[in-house]
Amino acid sequence: MTITSASTSTSTDSLLIDGRQLIGREWVPSATGRTIDVINPANRELLARIPRSDAADVDAAVEAAEQAFPAWRDTNASVRASIIFRWADLIEQNADELDQLESQEVGRPSWGPSRLPAQLRFIAGQVDKVQGVSLPTYSPDTIGFTLREPYGVVGAIIPWNAPGAMFLNEVGAAIAAGNTIVIKPAEDAPLTPLALAKLALDAGVPAGVINVVTGYGSEAGAAIPAHPRIRRIGFTGSPATGSLIMEACARNLTPLHLELGGKSPQVVFADADLDAAVPAMVAGITLNTGQICAAGSRVVVMRSIHAELVDRLAAEMQKVTVGPWHQPVTMGPLINEKQYDRVLNYIELGKQGGADVVTGGGVPQGDLYGNGFFVQPTLFDNVSPDMRIAQEEIFGPVLSVIAVDTEEEAIAVANGTDYGLVASVWTQDVGIAVRMSRALNAGQVGVNNAIGAGVIGGPFGGYKNSGFGRTMGADSVLNWTQVKTVSMRSATLPQF
Ligand code: ADP
Repeated sequence: MTITSASTSTSTDSLLIDGRQLIGREWVPSATGRTIDVINPANRELLARIPRSDAADVDAAVEAAEQAFPAWRDTNASVRASIIFRWADLIEQNADELDQLESQEVGRPSWGPSRLPAQLRFIAGQVDKVQGVSLPTYSPDTIGFTLREPYGVVGAIIPWNAPGAMFLNEVGAAIAAGNTIVIKPAEDAPLTPLALAKLALDAGVPAGVINVVTGYGSEAGAAIPAHPRIRRIGFTGSPATGSLIMEACARNLTPLHLELGGKSPQVVFADADLDAAVPAMVAGITLNTGQICAAGSRVVVMRSIHAELVDRLAAEMQKVTVGPWHQPVTMGPLINEKQYDRVLNYIELGKQGGADVVTGGGVPQGDLYGNGFFVQPTLFDNVSPDMRIAQEEIFGPVLSVIAVDTEEEAIAVANGTDYGLVASVWTQDVGIAVRMSRALNAGQVGVNNAIGAGVIGGPFGGYKNSGFGRTMGADSVLNWTQVKTVSMRSATLPQF
């Protein structure tokens, strides 16, 4: 195998960091010198190697973060904000390169103009607005107020499906609050996070404020929540891993937020504008090859329009073009072999369970697909709510249609999984929209909108097993602070 970034693009070279990770001011290999291959999911060729770190590397990163913390905490908020704004400017100047890097490692076609600079500027704008409150006191010789203070060294573990946005969500908000951070990106897609860390240093974020330790979840990842001097954790990933992280945090009494995926319903009423709904629903389940926690993977439709909707969804899905990211296609491969086997296994489970494959249901054939992890966008009809494909997160381009007869049944089916991340309602009736917005158990509800798109700064997170805590939103920086109440008493009563 050879490093093949040059075969699809030469422009990522300056941001492609090969074989090293960021600890303090140094770009270093792992303490053991071991590495992990990062593979292009479209052809299984080598993109780069990353350090295979473990607890020793995490410990070194915590040391570096501890050393950087006092000065960063005490840097005045205007200066901290301006450094983060400068980081956003550099991300904007390098947006095309970053986009190509992320496309290569995730295997997705370009998402168009990057939202990363705007995402980071939204966070940077909060840095100098971290405020406490003044408190009433029992006596005039006392003044009371709250301070919002950073935790110190914090940790984050992020997945591979949107590494750029995930990295900025956690790192941007954590350092904006004055914390220093140790973050482990996913072993499948660490290159965009490493590139973003490089740009942060270039922008003037002091050494040690951001430390990126790469490696496997069971090694470098597990060492983060287990570390007693990491004071807060942010995790995005699967429920099974989230549960392990929470157990480790419990042992150290470390607070955390968890974002754990979903099985998001798209509830379609008889009066829905299908011209708008159908393309949005198909895009929602095929964008990033369905590997988005917010993907609307269950269509819950009123029986009166069931047949028409299925026909239209199938026709729309057949327009999705599949191939490597640098071809003019709308959908790339899955991220890796594990994910490929998992999605094909769910497709098999759907067939065996008695659901009908309307379109897709397998692997695309042809030279374009070579050795990559490609699957067909797949539409299942006549799915019953208790089937595994209707209950479990597939994390692939697989859409299940469930027909219902009443609004009550629609609510019961939509809410009838362990998850509660996102839900969409398609209707032109404002009464239905209001009732459903309240009735759906999800952290985000979109009306005539898939994946809740179109909102700037909406808090993001789950109900039920989709997790707890919120990222983004007006409180994204406050979430990385702890509150101190100060009461200050004069030695003598004031004389007026
Ligand atoms: P997936 O199976 O889709 O990769 P995970 O939840 O396992 O989803 O992975 C999300 C992130 O969690 C990745 O960065 C991964 O390396 C990390 N991870 C996996 N297992 C553990 C673990 N036991 N402890 C800490 N982090 C982990």
